[in-house]
Amino acid sequence: MKILLNCLPCHDVSKLYPIEIQDTAIYEIDCEKGHKTVQILNEAQFETLFELGSLALLDGYTREAVSSYASSLERFYEFCIRVLLSVHKVNYSTMNETWKMVTVQSERQLGAFYFIWLLHYKKTPPKIAQKWVTFRNDVIHKGYIPKYDETKQYATSLYEYMLPIIIEFKRNYTKHFEHLKDKDFLIDKYACLSSPFVRDTYFLSKETMFNLVSSKDPLGNFDEALAMLAKRKDTLYSNSF
Ligand SMILES: [Zn+2]
Repeated sequence: MKILLNCLPCHDVSKLYPIEIQDTAIYEIDCEKGHKTVQILNEAQFETLFELGSLALLDGYTREAVSSYASSLERFYEFCIRVLLSVHKVNYSTMNETWKMVTVQSERQLGAFYFIWLLHYKKTPPKIAQKWVTFRNDVIHKGYIPKYDETKQYATSLYEYMLPIIIEFKRNYTKHFEHLKDKDFLIDKYACLSSPFVRDTYFLSKETMFNLVSSKDPLGNFDEALAMLAKRKDTLYSNSF
């Protein structure tokens, strides 16, 4: 999948450059007029994964949709853990060192989420219904081919699980989203670029189904968010290679 970006110095929104979606969310653009820029998208990785899941759903690829949604949920737990650790004044590098100890063990990450939630809110954390955990495992590990309707129900259940937390964090903790664009973090990320720091750099936010960092509010429900994605996908994404 590619994302469509325009060259910011050109101010021409009609000329879009398709660039393969990057895990780093860092995009180098060499425009036809010779501007060489870097655009860093502020969205969290879980948002991008949820978008990819929904794009797959809109195209009828249900297994691929479930895989992206499931990854989105895992990265969402990581996001929540990092926000709450930041609220409790844990610095980014210590957080990172500790995260490395659980980085390949999603069950441990989930355990960390539960107990950080408990510590912070003094309440039992919200939990995904067991039926959807089983559904996800059947798709990912047993080759189950899900139907469109049940995939959509799965996506709806994740959306309804994540949305109240996103609204709560957006209301109270936006300054703790800093790690999404933490300087050290970006320097690490920049190691993947061919010409670090020689390009003009722009930070920007795109609309997503959750609008975590966008100035817009998240949409009220999954059907509405999916309908909006269906409307804007042709101006934001391209699946041609
Ligand atoms: Zn340009």
